[in-house]
Amino acid sequence: MATAELSAFRASALHFLSDPGSEGSAQSLQYFADALLVVEDGRVKALGEARDLLPTLPEGTRISDYSGRLIMPGFIDTHIHYSQTDIIASPGRDLLHWLAHYTFPAERNFAELTHAREVAEFFLDELLRNGTTTALVFGTVHKQSMDAFFDAARARNLRMVAGKVLMDRNCPEYLMGSPESGYRESAELMEKWNGTGRLNYAITPRFAITSSEEQLRQAGKLAREFPDAHIHSHLAENEGEVAWARMLFPWSRSYLDIYDRLGLLRNRAVYAHCIHLDEQDRGRMTESGAAAAFCPTSNLFLGSGLFDLAAADRAGFRVAIGTDVGGGTSFSMLRTLSEAYKVSQLRGHTLSPMRAFYLATLGGAAALGLEDRIGSFMPNREADFVVLDCQSTPLLARRMAAASTLEERLFLLMTLGDDRAIVQTHILGQPMIG
Ligand SMILES: [Zn+2]
Repeated sequence: MATAELSAFRASALHFLSDPGSEGSAQSLQYFADALLVVEDGRVKALGEARDLLPTLPEGTRISDYSGRLIMPGFIDTHIHYSQTDIIASPGRDLLHWLAHYTFPAERNFAELTHAREVAEFFLDELLRNGTTTALVFGTVHKQSMDAFFDAARARNLRMVAGKVLMDRNCPEYLMGSPESGYRESAELMEKWNGTGRLNYAITPRFAITSSEEQLRQAGKLAREFPDAHIHSHLAENEGEVAWARMLFPWSRSYLDIYDRLGLLRNRAVYAHCIHLDEQDRGRMTESGAAAAFCPTSNLFLGSGLFDLAAADRAGFRVAIGTDVGGGTSFSMLRTLSEAYKVSQLRGHTLSPMRAFYLATLGGAAALGLEDRIGSFMPNREADFVVLDCQSTPLLARRMAAASTLEERLFLLMTLGDDRAIVQTHILGQPMIG
């Protein structure tokens, strides 16, 4: 029998055991100033004080010394479009204008497999460079866009969740599928990729505006036939979009009700934005087990609105963080948390740094129904983690020197930090940068 491969990482370490809630409860996390993270065959074997764990290691165990740095579970981005990498930072009037002028023409290029492959490689490099180890990803309508993406993710051994976009109306002819083609191609991709390596498939209608009722019904049928599949779409991002969706589905009580009645609200369903919801909608989010991806940089950039995290907390549904590149303006989850804080300020409540980092790690894993695999350093979790430099810029170093509590340091990290704070990203214990 081959001996297990053991490695260890010494640094400060932080991870969450549960949701710290809006008060930022300290019982929900573990922090060690001088920690050892022990990894066996790509999974977490132990996390604890270095002085306790060092004597337990077999002689010759490889120890990576990151003393002075902070390790955390890898960031989990619960809403991003790989096909929009090349249109990030394109100025637009609002969501619907942005889709027509930038998104659809850019997505047309993914009919070319070589283009899809090239973008997938860059996109995954960029995620890792920003400390993001898992993402819930939109492809395009082209089946090969997903083959290119999954191939690239599998070659790096990443845990990724992604799916082919479903559209059959209100989009250019060159991106239009049909209920039948969407069903067939999604099912084929699911058979091929769901559960292959560390990959998961998401049934991905773009939103209710670009899918006919029949196409959404077919998506609901897929969801019934593949109960462990994810569902990924957009919901209530912009007021014009909400009004249009209601007009297209006159029988609906609300925008959310469209997805609900067509079988698309459940555990492992993640809806980006969820800005313009009412209390009944929020209640259904909670009852169904669906999650919202809060995408602050995108919501500010496109002027869509301000996500109400306090209302989500009152209703009790799952929330996680999405960058929503390319409507969002950064791949960095640190930058995104900083904007989430500001959006919450405008909504009249404070996002604690504990809560923010929970949302970006274990909260993301919970939204994806993958908290038994990723998002924390509990034993046997997959050892995807990020090594952070809390002195990555002169200003950050200067402010950190004056910080006395973990909470202050985390707040500085999310407010002043960016990709420069990412020293290394490990996938199953292996370094991926450089
Ligand atoms: Zn989006």
